[in-house]
Amino acid sequence: MQLDRILQSQGFGSRKECRGLVRHGFVRVNGEEMDDPFVELDPAGLEFEVDGELWSYREVAYVMLHKPAGYEVSHKPVHHPSVFALLPAPLRARGVQAVGRLDEDTTGLLILTEDGQLIHQLSSPKRAIPKIYTVTLKHPATPELVSALLAGVELHDEPEPVVAAGCEIIGECLLRLTITGGKYHQVKRMIGAAGNRVEALHRGEIGRLALPADLAPGEWRWLSEADLSALR
Ligand code: URA
Repeated sequence: MQLDRILQSQGFGSRKECRGLVRHGFVRVNGEEMDDPFVELDPAGLEFEVDGELWSYREVAYVMLHKPAGYEVSHKPVHHPSVFALLPAPLRARGVQAVGRLDEDTTGLLILTEDGQLIHQLSSPKRAIPKIYTVTLKHPATPELVSALLAGVELHDEPEPVVAAGCEIIGECLLRLTITGGKYHQVKRMIGAAGNRVEALHRGEIGRLALPADLAPGEWRWLSEADLSALR
């Protein structure tokens, strides 16, 4: 593939802008400055630098983000900055979308991709992919609360009771709660319906993919093949 096309596919601008980046000496491949935007390169596994930053070619972008509190999962945020502002410009330009939403005050694992099929799979009620949350409660967790969540709680506008797929008390005011749905404010509404209140919410896992302990709030990283299999 021609270098200008490679750069365009990776979010570095229009073909014309990418040709400009090469001609102005901003692009290096294997440590060598490139001056020909039309040079043919094999994109698979290609590592390149743009303006001193190292990138590797990804046919489709799949990333995980440790969402911090105070960010909205929206391209048009209203009250807080957007989580998309935490990603580098080329990734934003590729038009990655979030898989599901986390509330502004929720922290934890968020997947972003340009793969519409994966977004659909992970959001589909039929696949029932588990999402695991650590819930900090206002009032102490009780066995009755756990039983109520596992048995199912009535939520406004939901025809059937909504059940937790798993629920364990892990601290005086802490629950580890697994849900398979992705309804609006689902955890907060379930906890409220069961007579308690969410003080803080953190998503630690989606499917078998856990938020890595070394990914700090606000940081992102590419998903590996193993991460992708753990998600599906
Ligand atoms: N449930 C909620 O109530 N909020 C979230 O951010 C995610 C799940």
